[in-house]
Amino acid sequence: MKDTLKHKGMRNKLAETLVKKGIANKNVLEAIKTIPRHLFLDSSFEDHAYQDKAFPIGAEQTISQPYTVAFQTELLELKPNAKILEIGTGSGYQTAVLLHQKAKVYTIERQLELFKKTKLFFSKMGYRPKKNIFGDGYKGLPEEAPFDGIIVTAGAPYVPNPLLAQLKIGGRLVIPVGGEEQVMTLFIRKSEKEFEKKEFGSFRFVPLLEDKN
Ligand code: SAH
Repeated sequence: MKDTLKHKGMRNKLAETLVKKGIANKNVLEAIKTIPRHLFLDSSFEDHAYQDKAFPIGAEQTISQPYTVAFQTELLELKPNAKILEIGTGSGYQTAVLLHQKAKVYTIERQLELFKKTKLFFSKMGYRPKKNIFGDGYKGLPEEAPFDGIIVTAGAPYVPNPLLAQLKIGGRLVIPVGGEEQVMTLFIRKSEKEFEKKEFGSFRFVPLLEDKN
């Protein structure tokens, strides 16, 4: 598959749709207009890749809906060179959006098949996360902590404490919390012990799973 002007046109339309849905961050919209989402999907979805929808990516997982990716990225309020931990690499689309904002990205995936496939895809496309890790996101990445931001792209039944602990002071954790439906939740670390919590609308993610063992 290639990236063509037709795809570019569809991306611009998608960005307009996201603006109507309330996405305002210019950098985020620029990323949506630039990143070839159809290449992150199986070729059978090529014609649908720029609809504002989630699609299957194998291993019973999905690529998040563009609106959701844009909304979560906005909540991170990325500064240049921000050090970001992403839980749930999946297709790598969210990773690419973060890289487009010049973030230093550490990304973790627990499905071996997806981890391998996306790692290969990143190197083919020239996307360079700082680290691409096969592991359990519930634990975060203590050896690289603290982070300016942590983004969880699967539905978490509860907020894992290690993720809060791995935020810098002023750092932001964006995490959908709940069961079948989740509430998008933002934690801002105010001090060593204090966190401000804000809740946004409800979303539907695949579940953040605990270790298989
Ligand atoms: N950011 C992805 C979204 C993928 S869906 C994208 O844009 O395509 C969520 C992903 O989280 C899935 O790939 C799933 O395998 C992964 N996941 C689920 N539980 C996890 C865990 N405990 N640690 C790391 N990744 C996990």
